[in-house]
Amino acid sequence: MSSLTLDHAAAIPFAVPQSRWDEAHAATLGAEGLLLYRSNLLGSDLTVTNFGGGNTSAKLTGIDPVSGSPVDVLWVKGSGGDIGSMALDGFATLYLDKLLGLEAHYRGPDDDDAMVGYLPHCTFNLNGRAASIDTPLHALLPFAHVDHVHPDAIIALAASSGGQAATREIWGGRIGWLPWKRPGYTLGVMLRDYVAANPGIEGVMLAGHGIICWAESAQACYEHTVALIADAARYLNAKMAGRPAFGGQVVAPNPDRAAIVADLMPRLRGLMTGARRKLGHWSDDAEALEFTGSAHFERLAALGTSCPDHFLRTKIAPLTLDPARLTDDTYLAAQITAYRAIYAAYYDRCKRDDSPAMRDANPVVVLVPGVGRITFAADKTTARLAGEFYGNAINVMRGAEAIGDYIALDEREAFDIEYWLLEEAKLQRMPAPRPQVGRIVLVTGGAGGIGAATAARFLRDGACVVLVDRDAAALEAVRAGFARQFGKDVVRAALCDVTDEEQVKAACDIAAREFGGLDVLVANAGIASSAPIEDTTLALWRTNYDVLAQGYFLTARAAWPLLRAMKDQGGSAVVFIGSKNGVAAAAGASAYASAKAAANHLARCLALEGAPHGIRVNVVNPDAVIRGSRIWDGDWRKQRSRAHGIDPGAELEEHYRNRSLLKRDVLPEDIAEACYFLGSDASAKSTGNMINVDAGNVQAFTR
Ligand SMILES: [Zn+2]
Repeated sequence: MSSLTLDHAAAIPFAVPQSRWDEAHAATLGAEGLLLYRSNLLGSDLTVTNFGGGNTSAKLTGIDPVSGSPVDVLWVKGSGGDIGSMALDGFATLYLDKLLGLEAHYRGPDDDDAMVGYLPHCTFNLNGRAASIDTPLHALLPFAHVDHVHPDAIIALAASSGGQAATREIWGGRIGWLPWKRPGYTLGVMLRDYVAANPGIEGVMLAGHGIICWAESAQACYEHTVALIADAARYLNAKMAGRPAFGGQVVAPNPDRAAIVADLMPRLRGLMTGARRKLGHWSDDAEALEFTGSAHFERLAALGTSCPDHFLRTKIAPLTLDPARLTDDTYLAAQITAYRAIYAAYYDRCKRDDSPAMRDANPVVVLVPGVGRITFAADKTTARLAGEFYGNAINVMRGAEAIGDYIALDEREAFDIEYWLLEEAKLQRMPAPRPQVGRIVLVTGGAGGIGAATAARFLRDGACVVLVDRDAAALEAVRAGFARQFGKDVVRAALCDVTDEEQVKAACDIAAREFGGLDVLVANAGIASSAPIEDTTLALWRTNYDVLAQGYFLTARAAWPLLRAMKDQGGSAVVFIGSKNGVAAAAGASAYASAKAAANHLARCLALEGAPHGIRVNVVNPDAVIRGSRIWDGDWRKQRSRAHGIDPGAELEEHYRNRSLLKRDVLPEDIAEACYFLGSDASAKSTGNMINVDAGNVQAFTR
């Protein structure tokens, strides 16, 4: 989220990359190390290439493990991964002579899939890294070092009707131009023949796709690639200078867009039925606001993306919404339904006899003028990356339109890439996602013992979590720990006092805006007090009711619209952390125990009210969870010890253990397990229930 002011006098310029080559560092590296260094430098610079995009190679001398003789080996970035973060094991290694010998099996352009099957037979030194579909591009070129990248400024040329002329204008004859061809062996042959027919060229633009270029050393190749991107960026910036992009702004950024998105995303997510639950990602970065608010927005959005890298992440075209009708559920449902019908028609038009079955037809990218770009995917990282790729696509369209007409990927070509049989085989081999992937869980008191243990339990199985707590330092410590353990994408924190109506609403808005909605609310934030009735002040009484009764009420009420939105996707769940004392009377703790009883009964009322909306409401009753608890750190420990006539130190744990029927300690993880059960589909048929997790206490037996 940003609060930028846009300068609408001018289009957003392309970044101009510079060489970051460190000669002193490079001098310490061997041939393989230099290839890796060059790859990491290119891939970690987002002005050079998008996430995961592009590949690099070097033809090096290796020692054949059988003969002991030197052989030519192609090192080329393997399948999967990202050149910016890859290690040496990310490269496939192949015998170059075997790769070149494959041409004997090549029968023509329809043979690309079969040629992929031969690549593993060329593996050098039993390297397990699979060779990618781009391997022939590198193998067939007679150059020692080859880079292939998809930077925005380059694709802008490659995807414009004016691109070929611009290529000539920028580089003279130094850089060639090949028409669009899907990556594969045929493109490798076309490229090899083109280079043979045009001796002396230093690289080739691949229409609708990117660029491939080469040099005789790692450093020269890196600097060549960076210089070509910089040339393209400077050229486009000069063409765009002094005028707005996309025909100028017609819808200004809405100052209330954060609130609009918090309301909109859960409703959209609820409508995206037919697949697993989705995670959302919103961005109102400068590109998204410039594009969605522009005069040419609808025309360009309908064309779809160009570079295969973009399109595979974003689907062929985005869904666009009318900002004046966002609160109209009928409109939203109709828009999603229409998108799915358009996608199904595209599938039917393009499918072949052996095409895999149609996949999820819901939109990935949703664009709203003045509000920005919302993306939905099976998990948070994929949703975020889809948004970033659409940002790249916007940059491409801006540059392409500055020198001609933007040209999107042809529908049939797009389909053949999306439903490529070998890609389908890879998808089929992927392990099933963890059970909570796609779920969003909000935990109040998330920085405390039970709250953090519950959050961790859901995170471990793939959920995204919003931690809510009023203790800023503890909250940040727990958030940072989870971000390290489970990844930054899946955890957010909201500083919030659950007795404050506005803060509670703001915390639920974070779940909506950062992840797209809510599937499970765990109301856990609590306090405890102990005092005989005559010593119970009105203030003490009110504090207990404010946090335990009112806090649970406020949290459930604020979460309700988000939870209700999931009705058509199997529903949602609320879990209240109650207490043994909500069921069993406690002498000397009437304020606490009666407030807990109020929360328990609130849960039953909400179970009744939530059922028609698919919202289940259940209670976990812990007893004496001392470890990790902030409640037990302070006066409560002393008060309960005094009430039981024991030492507040280690004796307290022993007292509670011995009091239980099972003679066992109750730990935060035990409560978390019950919350997990009640929050997950394992308890899909349970509502209005209580689970005691107290190591057995006859007074708390429900009846
Ligand atoms: Zn490519």
